[in-house]
Amino acid sequence: MKWEQNVRKVVPYIPGEQPKQKDIVKLNTNENPYPPAPGVAKLFQDFDMDTLRLYPDTDSTELTRELANYYGVKPSQVFVGVGSDDVLSMAFLTFFNAAEPVLFPDITYSFYDVWADLYRIPYKVCPLDEQFAIKAEDYRQPNGGVIFPNPNAPTGVYAPLELVEEIIKANQDVVVIVDEAYIDFGGESCIPLLEKYENLLVVQTFSKSRSMAGMRIGFAIGNEKLIGYLNDAKFSFNSYTMNRPSQCFGVEAVRDDVYFKECNAKIIATRERVKAALTELGFTFPDSMANFIFAKHESVSGEVIFKALKDRGIFVRHWNKPRIENYLRISIGTDEQMDKLIAALREILA
Ligand code: PMP
Repeated sequence: MKWEQNVRKVVPYIPGEQPKQKDIVKLNTNENPYPPAPGVAKLFQDFDMDTLRLYPDTDSTELTRELANYYGVKPSQVFVGVGSDDVLSMAFLTFFNAAEPVLFPDITYSFYDVWADLYRIPYKVCPLDEQFAIKAEDYRQPNGGVIFPNPNAPTGVYAPLELVEEIIKANQDVVVIVDEAYIDFGGESCIPLLEKYENLLVVQTFSKSRSMAGMRIGFAIGNEKLIGYLNDAKFSFNSYTMNRPSQCFGVEAVRDDVYFKECNAKIIATRERVKAALTELGFTFPDSMANFIFAKHESVSGEVIFKALKDRGIFVRHWNKPRIENYLRISIGTDEQMDKLIAALREILA
């Protein structure tokens, strides 16, 4: 068929499964096991349905202001989108437009190469070292931009701020995007580096640390000029991206900092406990600073454990990809959920 020759073909990203059954232990998409801030539930109950007749605020003004206030930047330095996937996709489209390849790690968020392919952006992957750490020297070659998550996904490995800065510093002629989807679980954000580097864009999400994956809220913080270009692209694509409830509930989530910190502390405590239990069971893993652990068993394959867990109603994530086929990415749930996981693993490995 002739028309088919000109179709923009792309191999899509495969998100983690969202099973319909209710009674499973869902540890496969790094969602937060705790509910959103209590104020969000209250707002939801009181939400004025009549307002849904009207288009939402195209600029998400209140949410932008709230985030700017929280992170100590100007509202003109904040861009909000429908989940950080939306923000990242828009950033790829806007900033990665050179003939040189965009650089990112070989093991990383598997959406990056999909966006690059979709937008016809050349890219080159830089292999992580044996411990799955990013090697700063790899990012000293000619390129059309740089992106990496910190902590990285699916490894959970955190790059200290000095390493992040080294990469930004070496790449001041291109835009460097640091995807901080998991930064609130113990890492240090590179937002303060924005004062020094106008080519830095920091992207975060409400899906993990703010327990709102279902609301689809993500945001970028950067230099005013970068944010201006992002807005130009967004307004050339779809002006009304974020719906009214998301804008309104997002504001409430940011306001409850006590709850936010409490939940993150609980997840960190559970994660550390699970690390010890996994080690005891014969797993090894790079040290994780995220709300998941990327673990491999000393003698049983990743695929076998993945299937055995699934048979017991416990969902984790597994990729049949080079270097990581024996690893399982296990999201951190409640203590009760993690106890079920550990009990199941004990049974499977017995
Ligand atoms: N970045 C990374 C590294 C992720 O793991 C995810 C979650 N899949 C995202 C971005 C996107 O998350 P969301 O669109 O829910 O904000």
